[in-house]
Amino acid sequence: MTRQPSLFLPHGAPDLLLTEHPAKQFLAELGGRVGRPAAILVVSAHWESPRLALTSAEAPETVHDFSGFPKQLYDFRYPAKTDAAVSRRVTELMANLGHTVEADPGRGFDHGAWVPLLLAFPDADIPVVQLSLLAGGTARQHFEIGEALAPLRDEGVLIVGSGSVTHNLRALGPEGMPPPAWATGFDDFVSMAVEVGDWKALMRFPDAPGDAQRAHPTPEHFLPFFVAAGAGRTDRGARLHRSFSHSSISMSAFSFGADQLAA
Ligand code: ZN
Repeated sequence: MTRQPSLFLPHGAPDLLLTEHPAKQFLAELGGRVGRPAAILVVSAHWESPRLALTSAEAPETVHDFSGFPKQLYDFRYPAKTDAAVSRRVTELMANLGHTVEADPGRGFDHGAWVPLLLAFPDADIPVVQLSLLAGGTARQHFEIGEALAPLRDEGVLIVGSGSVTHNLRALGPEGMPPPAWATGFDDFVSMAVEVGDWKALMRFPDAPGDAQRAHPTPEHFLPFFVAAGAGRTDRGARLHRSFSHSSISMSAFSFGADQLAA
């Protein structure tokens, strides 16, 4: 079984699917670089739960959890099936960490989960399980969740955190407008910390660095990063892609276990 990397991917605004953007191109090529995992475990910014929860429907619905976007977006479906064995393993690994995991048969895939997967693995023929964030959880708690999930990588499961390195919806601009200095600065800080494995600096989020609170007025879009980083901490981390969308949303992507990804 090939050891899988863990990834942090951007999902941007849902209209990424309808526009030409370097991040869309990056995601579309990513599947070929990763190969074919046995299953995918995805953690998205758009599902926070007071206790950890997992999708458990046999084929979770594709949820169009957005409004004000072109109606073609509502036609997209991501019909991946679940993987009960992976769900059991996640539940077991989380129990070792002291977390009870609730199975949620009514929960579908939110756009944070299905948009990047649709671009990277368009055939939807790899089983997908979505794990929630821990509502109110810290960067460190999510890093520890990732560390506890790391053995899944050796079982062929690709771990994907989906969010954005900067996410301030009050600071959006037209597509193509250069990013503001606080956005590039925070993005650079994260990249440098990943490349040297400075988890201590990263886990000071949201108190540091200085622009963290401007980059994330609320933390949920950056917390999936910590799950991916925790799952990959023993491997070299690398930035796979960098661009910005709507001026200030970072579309940076990271891999932990990057050595297996052919450039
Ligand atoms: Zn989002």
